[in-house]
Amino acid sequence: MSSKQIPLNRPDLGLKERIAVDAVLREGALAQGRRVAEFEAAFSKTVSGQNSIAVNSGTSALHLGLLALGIGPGDEVIVPSFTFAASANAVAITGATPVFVDIEPDYFSIDPMAVKASIGPKTKAVIAVHLYGHPAQISELKAICDSAGIFLVEDAAQAHLAEFGSIPVGAWGAIAAFSFYPTKNMTTGEGGMTVAGDEGLARRVRLLRNQGMERRYENEIPGFNNRMTEIAAAIGLVQLEKLAAWTKKRRANASYLDVNLSGVVVPKVHPLAIHAYHQYTIKVEGHDRTRFAAELKKLGVDSDVYYPAPVHKLPAYGLTHSLEVTERITKTCLSIPVHQKLSKSDLAKIVHAINKLSKAGA
Ligand SMILES: *Cc1c(COP(=O)(O)O)cnc(C)c1O
Repeated sequence: MSSKQIPLNRPDLGLKERIAVDAVLREGALAQGRRVAEFEAAFSKTVSGQNSIAVNSGTSALHLGLLALGIGPGDEVIVPSFTFAASANAVAITGATPVFVDIEPDYFSIDPMAVKASIGPKTKAVIAVHLYGHPAQISELKAICDSAGIFLVEDAAQAHLAEFGSIPVGAWGAIAAFSFYPTKNMTTGEGGMTVAGDEGLARRVRLLRNQGMERRYENEIPGFNNRMTEIAAAIGLVQLEKLAAWTKKRRANASYLDVNLSGVVVPKVHPLAIHAYHQYTIKVEGHDRTRFAAELKKLGVDSDVYYPAPVHKLPAYGLTHSLEVTERITKTCLSIPVHQKLSKSDLAKIVHAINKLSKAGA
């Protein structure tokens, strides 16, 4: 067994990415251009051919998607509180109000029954977050949204290549957003992708991304500069080629952990879901999680808590209502390494360390 520390997340960049970036630098066309278009076309294939619009971050991808749907002041958007704050921030910066609801306990994703109970006259959309790469219960959520006449939006920032009922995530909602932040399953440095089935919506996202222009200096609406650079797209094209093999390795690593870990609750997978394992998140019930993580680190295994506080209780939102499952799980969740760079001996080391601590009642 090696003595090096096993990291939780780390971007996996190689010679091909360096060569691709070098080619962009030599050509000198750096802003959104040919490679961005190529990257969008390639990404589109992973989401059943839906329109894909590359932007500068996952947060922008979600924000522009919501704006394209016409969401703004006076509207409500239902979001889970157990997520990264960006899921709610994207709503708040449109001027709409995020309405925070609880998750169900098995898959860490928004509870369809809680969504149903929270729909009111101002509700315009529901954001399903595919947290850790496990799809939310998206078919049920889609049925609820369709019958209420509101939009389903997917925050797929962590869920590249995940599927539900043989349909890829990103192809379910009116709008979906992916992230290419360095710790995500693939990276472009910073970057994101809005996915939209509808051509009119896709056009609005493209306008919002680029100062409201389709043709140069013919600004149709006020817009942002949320474009992706050619450097980012060049990295993304290479990463995307590797993504399927990486995801397969993540799944194999997760299967190994599922079978061999004991004394902790391993992540459940919905029978219709294909998990992308952005994170492998266990529940350490009956242990002091802070001590458990500290001991784990001493045994050479890094871990982290995603997320330590419900978003609605953060100072940015300052709400106090109680969301029982969210609050329970923020106290017991712990994400451990599952990424494609783990070796056989790394996996054995992780299992040995966790089983030792859980048995010792750490
Ligand atoms: C990373 C992430 C985002 C935001 O993506 P950025 O590229 O960092 O802006 C949004 N939602 C979730 C769930 C994320 O994990």
